[in-house]
Amino acid sequence: MSEPVEARVDLDAIRANVALLRGRAAGAEVMAMVKAEGYGHGLVEAARAALDGGATWIGVARVSEALRLRAAGVTVPILSAVTTPGEPYEDAVAAGVDITVGSPLLVERLVTAAEATGRAARVHLKADTGLSRGGATPADWPATVEAALAAQAAGHVEVVGLMSHFACADEPSHPSVGRQLAVFRDAVDHAEKAGARPQVRHLSNSAGLLTLPEARYDLVRPGIAVYGLSPIPAEGTFGLRPAMTLVAELAGVKRVPAGSGVSYGHTYVTPRETTLGLVAAGYGDGVPRHGSGLLDVLVDGRRYRIAGRVCMDQFVVDLGEHDPRPGGEVLLFGPGDRGEPTAQDWADTIGTISYEIVTRIGARVPRVYTGASADVDE
Ligand SMILES: *Cc1c(COP(=O)(O)O)cnc(C)c1O
Repeated sequence: MSEPVEARVDLDAIRANVALLRGRAAGAEVMAMVKAEGYGHGLVEAARAALDGGATWIGVARVSEALRLRAAGVTVPILSAVTTPGEPYEDAVAAGVDITVGSPLLVERLVTAAEATGRAARVHLKADTGLSRGGATPADWPATVEAALAAQAAGHVEVVGLMSHFACADEPSHPSVGRQLAVFRDAVDHAEKAGARPQVRHLSNSAGLLTLPEARYDLVRPGIAVYGLSPIPAEGTFGLRPAMTLVAELAGVKRVPAGSGVSYGHTYVTPRETTLGLVAAGYGDGVPRHGSGLLDVLVDGRRYRIAGRVCMDQFVVDLGEHDPRPGGEVLLFGPGDRGEPTAQDWADTIGTISYEIVTRIGARVPRVYTGASADVDE
């Protein structure tokens, strides 16, 4: 290892996961969500592997992410799903990036961008069907549709999609799911009656895709499942394969007497004479500090708990009478097939979701790619 911590990303797993999701989508197209650096796995690499696996659209959160993908040579439609008034829409329109639109105000912004670039802005009109986040509420939907269709008639906008997003798809029996489906149906009806002819109508994230066949429409937008993590952990893995393994180097081992306070604050004190292992990964790399004393890692084939506080660059494990050689690899999390915890295990232990575990892997941690897709030229 050239760096003490690395995130190994198995691009074959991403490819296989997308192929599986595409099968489950039963004819709907797949938009692979690669926002936030591909959920920590690498923006461009994740997108390429997902396209290899059969995705035909890419989704991001921000225009800047879409522009990076265009610069890297990704030519399929890319949707920027979270929009703010200040983003560089001229660049987006010039690069043919699809924009999510949930208000007449944003339509105006895009008309200006279209006039400046001489190209029509590709938009997906977003209905707020009950998440109360982005998108037009049912009260604001008619005005948003009307503004977009007027701009389309003037040649400034192309209404490519109609979309919404679930609040509780990871609880398929939650009453909001049926309500959102009904509101979306009405929103689509209204827009189509008003003259919209969208290429794609879309609503489902990973959880919706895997559990709500009636919500697939023309396109599904899986994110977490692309990376092999379950959107509904209580319902199992759905056959997905975690793509990321976080590995750190065992920096050193040493014998210490009973009663040795370990790491900042001495929250762990050795109960007996023992061997401590120093692992070169910390919260600066994405190991959650509130996992201090709680998270397990795999050292030399055996599981140990983090002893005392996680520091910025390192943490300690109490190895007892085990005496592994420094320089070996410690598996922090991975697919679990060698006995290491999974990102889901870490999330469960500290009360968060797997999304946050993988997305927070630090910028200084190199992503090392394995799998056939890793050989594709830049
Ligand atoms: C992130 C995101 C998704 C993917 O959600 P997952 O739960 O990761 O599958 C889908 N749609 C939109 C609009 C998103 O922002």
